[in-house]
Amino acid sequence: MADNTPAAEGAPGPVTVMLEVPAMKCVVPGRVFDAWSWCRSDVVEWRRPAGSLSSFATEHTPIDGQNPPGLAFVMREECTFLPRELAKLHVFGYGLENELALAPWGIDQATDLLYERQARPHDVFWLAASTVDALVWGLHDWVHFHNHGPFEEPAMTELQCDLVAIAWLRQNAARIGLDEKRLTCIARDLADLSRKRFEFEGVDSPIADLDALFLGPYPDALE
Ligand SMILES: [Zn+2]
Repeated sequence: MADNTPAAEGAPGPVTVMLEVPAMKCVVPGRVFDAWSWCRSDVVEWRRPAGSLSSFATEHTPIDGQNPPGLAFVMREECTFLPRELAKLHVFGYGLENELALAPWGIDQATDLLYERQARPHDVFWLAASTVDALVWGLHDWVHFHNHGPFEEPAMTELQCDLVAIAWLRQNAARIGLDEKRLTCIARDLADLSRKRFEFEGVDSPIADLDALFLGPYPDALE
């Protein structure tokens, strides 16, 4: 059975970590991404269940582009304009009861609706992520939430989201508990995913060497 019960008295509860997630420069054309123009990202409140830290330190599981388990955007208050489901159906070990979360299938809808309502994502959600995989995709989605665009060139959009996600992981590595080796594995996986998306769409990446891009120091914070 999944553990939805509040932590027993004296037992450690979920851990909350504030991650710095500043707006960053874009490598894709302006038609793809509006470059944080409606909402500058700054911070995300990440929670993980007590005892989950070991999963952040274990051997690398490849990041494969599937929506991972253990990820949810939990609503601070019920947000009626977004598709929502009970959070405790999707994430465990947080002591959740009646809290609602963005429906897992509603990421694209939320990207549009948050923009339309000018609702700052940090005011609406905290991020539940119990594994590195879930955290990577949570940060990837966090980039979507702050950038409005037509989403007509998915490989381009996803490249930008992945690139910022790995940069945010690097920036917060110590707080998350990720070492350089793990970061390098994640960066390689994301570069590989990106390459496959461009091949699938039959278009060229704006940056020819995706490995160098993901493994390098990019991106700088937006001035
Ligand atoms: Zn995406």
